[in-house]
Amino acid sequence: MSVFLHDTLTREKREFVPADPKRVTLYVCGPTVYNYAHIGNARPVVVFDVLFRLLRRVYGAGAVVYARNITDVDDKINQAAIEQGVDISAITDKFTAIYHQDMDALGALRPTVEPRATAHIAEMLALIGAMVQRGHAYAADGHVLFDTASFADYGQLSGRSLEDMIAGARVEVAGYKKNPADFVLWKPSKPGEPVWDSPWGPGRPGWHLECSAMIEKTLGPEIDIHGGGHDLIFPHHENEIAQSRCAHDQPVLARYWVHNGFLTMDAEKMSKSLGNVKLVHELIKRVPGEVLRWALLSGHYRAPLDWTDTLIEQSRKSLDRLYGALQRAGDVEAPPGEPPQAFVEALEDDLNTPRAMAELFALAKTLETAKSENERRSAKAALLGAGALAGFLQADPDAWFSGAADDDLRIKVEGLLAERIEARKAKDWPTADRIRDELNALNVVVMDGPDGATWRLRDSNPT
Ligand SMILES: [Zn+2]
Repeated sequence: MSVFLHDTLTREKREFVPADPKRVTLYVCGPTVYNYAHIGNARPVVVFDVLFRLLRRVYGAGAVVYARNITDVDDKINQAAIEQGVDISAITDKFTAIYHQDMDALGALRPTVEPRATAHIAEMLALIGAMVQRGHAYAADGHVLFDTASFADYGQLSGRSLEDMIAGARVEVAGYKKNPADFVLWKPSKPGEPVWDSPWGPGRPGWHLECSAMIEKTLGPEIDIHGGGHDLIFPHHENEIAQSRCAHDQPVLARYWVHNGFLTMDAEKMSKSLGNVKLVHELIKRVPGEVLRWALLSGHYRAPLDWTDTLIEQSRKSLDRLYGALQRAGDVEAPPGEPPQAFVEALEDDLNTPRAMAELFALAKTLETAKSENERRSAKAALLGAGALAGFLQADPDAWFSGAADDDLRIKVEGLLAERIEARKAKDWPTADRIRDELNALNVVVMDGPDGATWRLRDSNPT
């Protein structure tokens, strides 16, 4: 079977056929680095990480080029730099490093290339020049604007007509625009903001332009897949298409457009604890990153995902079940093997992660009910191999359950558990109850299974 992806532009699920299977190109719009990443911003990172891993499996690890940009010049960055009295790079370097750490904790592979906007100003100016020359852009009042009326396909991706856009309240109306839907390619810098020279006067680029410039520089004028959050379809991706196609008179920018749905935050449902923590940086201090990754992939990527305490708790339980099966198979020597066909097919079918997760549970069950050593070995290898393809289950199961505990605590808990077994055998319920209370006070959760008890530390909640 081959990979199928839902393409936003044609509005259908299509078989993925790269232009060149030896160099498959994927571009995803990256972060604006002026603050900590919100959990909603982590959803595309994790979703496209699964796609990246899948493409690497199909075409070979060296054949997939994944570019994700860093927006390091922007109004919010400029504002933060002015407020703190520092150069923008002081802000962007700090938050780029934090972003890397946080996304690493979610098990996301780093992209192949990570171009920065400020390193591509010359490429952006060249694109503007080409658009002006072809009659798709014009200079007015220190700005350069894209002339939307000059591009017949404008609105095709988002399914909007130019009339709708003009009527839309979100379009900024300025006197120097020929048409209210025209968007900024270059604008004058405000006092204190970074500034670059250009044939149209000193200033800085409009946000949409950087992606067109960096796509062309890092991947080429036409790419296989362009991804991002659903909220970027309009105006950002619509404008990327307009710029890239009009600068070079080319029919296509990306052959497949893939967009993930929103993370919905129901204030009432998350009023109590974890669901209320919105920054990845804070969440990973309280919950293993793998639990957050599981939660983010538990729904189909195109659908909205309701972010709640229950979702996080259930994700923890799901991974506990899978790691529990691996822990009980600790005696079986089995490196990660070939993931089963049904698991791979689920991912190849427009990244159906919920179906793939169901396959992981089926594999765990096979492992737990296997009779012979051979069956156990192949079931464990399959479970580990499937987990690896989706970025799960690569931790040491013992560390998973007691990872946050230090050696003293570990010895104490093991001792109490041994005492508990004896007390239960002797039907000494007062002692068993006392031990339970002691474990509880140590923040230890005990999970009784057919082969004895496993334990882990309770995930800490914000106070
Ligand atoms: Zn972009």
